[in-house]
Amino acid sequence: MPDDLVTTVQFDNRYQRELPGTYARVTPTPMKNPRWVAWNEPLARELNWPNPPDDDVLAAFSGHGQLEGTDPIAQKYAGHQFGTFNPDLGDGRGLLLGEWVDGQGQHWDFHLKGAGKTPFSRFGDGRAVLRSSIRELLASEALHGLGIPTTRALALVGSDEPVMRERLENGAMLLRVAKTHIRFGHFEWFAFSGQTDKLEQLLAFCLTHLFPDCKNTPDPAAALFDAVVTRTAHLIAHWMSTGFCHGVMNTDNMSIIGDTFDYGPYAFLDALQPGFICNHTDTGGRYAYNRQPDIAFWNLQCLAQALAGIADQGALRDSLSRFAEHYNARFLELMGARLGVLNVSEEDQSLIRDWMQLATDEAVDFHRPLRELAEMETSDWARLDDDYSDRSRFRRFRQALAERREQEPDTQTLALASNPVSILRTHHAQAVIDACEQGDDSLLHSYLAALQSPFEVRPEWQRWRAPPPASYHAHPLSCSS
Ligand code: AMP
Ligand code: MG
Repeated sequence: MPDDLVTTVQFDNRYQRELPGTYARVTPTPMKNPRWVAWNEPLARELNWPNPPDDDVLAAFSGHGQLEGTDPIAQKYAGHQFGTFNPDLGDGRGLLLGEWVDGQGQHWDFHLKGAGKTPFSRFGDGRAVLRSSIRELLASEALHGLGIPTTRALALVGSDEPVMRERLENGAMLLRVAKTHIRFGHFEWFAFSGQTDKLEQLLAFCLTHLFPDCKNTPDPAAALFDAVVTRTAHLIAHWMSTGFCHGVMNTDNMSIIGDTFDYGPYAFLDALQPGFICNHTDTGGRYAYNRQPDIAFWNLQCLAQALAGIADQGALRDSLSRFAEHYNARFLELMGARLGVLNVSEEDQSLIRDWMQLATDEAVDFHRPLRELAEMETSDWARLDDDYSDRSRFRRFRQALAERREQEPDTQTLALASNPVSILRTHHAQAVIDACEQGDDSLLHSYLAALQSPFEVRPEWQRWRAPPPASYHAHPLSCSS
């Protein structure tokens, strides 16, 4: 390749440069005896990352050295946690190292989670533990594999540094990659602390780098908000149609670009339980599975309030009023696809509702029956009748669906491409964590690969297909990660 066609890749630091006074410069705190636990080679290739996971990179991703061109900072933000405004938030244990510029000139935040204390750590130790870092790695790659917008994870570094949680655990650092780490809470902070100039700068930053289509419009702040409403509605529809529960939908965990962000006590549903709560500290069920669309709307209202001083309020209200429309349209499209139905009609909507109600009443697994329907010819579906206590109800449903599927070509292809084989299950994740805590990372690598290609059937991934045995009781998951 001629020299002038070789793109130089490097770090940029736009956030540091363009948003002065909104962060603290912090040097990562080295973590004892770092070791590689996982390296995400497919992502490294996507990013055009040139370095193999060698000792220099290991040092940089464990606080022992810095990559040339990076300028680590802790960002300041605020947010509503469980409905209450908290002005004291910010990166308490993660640092934005810099923005990696890939071969196409795209910028990617490199964020090191678990990098030590910052001015925003409050009572925390600034660390992350291996258990929750594995959970974040698995989840972000699983959601990406399913086509759901999400932050990614390039690397996971383990350590024998003890970190106290509900028990003593091993520390770890996760190198998180995202187009941005700007949250709803960033806007809330500048608005509610009266820093209008900084709010305007943040808006300008987002318009230039993240929402260029909104920039040259009569009311760019309102245009940006409208785009955020749409993206968020689509994101939540995707979560709901795949049975994903985030668990801590505080506004500081809501990405401005509609990525799934900040994985904590999340879970994918096993059985379809609409009121399922994955976070055991969420005793009121504020963030239960079936509340996620309402909570997303509530969070968008907080963002609208933060923008109210710099955007037309009528326009903000109009955008909010379209949330349900965006959400419903995308949810029906996605659920329709899972049933093999393209172009969802009014009648198809009742077919989808029938399935959701049937699956709920029968407490069947959220994923497996749909995959089985996808894999089998419609003429063989009768073999599934015995899986339901109300056999005739299921028979009526499958007959209606089979009739509907006859009206379109390639419905099986659509259903197969919309129903994953490998799902991130809490019990499998726990088995992986248990093995890694004993120093065996092989299960993690296998599960990660399966989740990155969730529609692919491979004999060696067979074990990851199994739902939990009826006797399985998940460890309660909490925010203390
Ligand atoms: P999270 O529950 O991870 O979304 O975090 C909520 C807030 O607490 C954020 O401001 C985090 O930076 C902060 N935080 C969480 N865990 C720690 C920790 N171990 N040390 C310091 N700050 C933390
Ligand atoms: Mg958070």
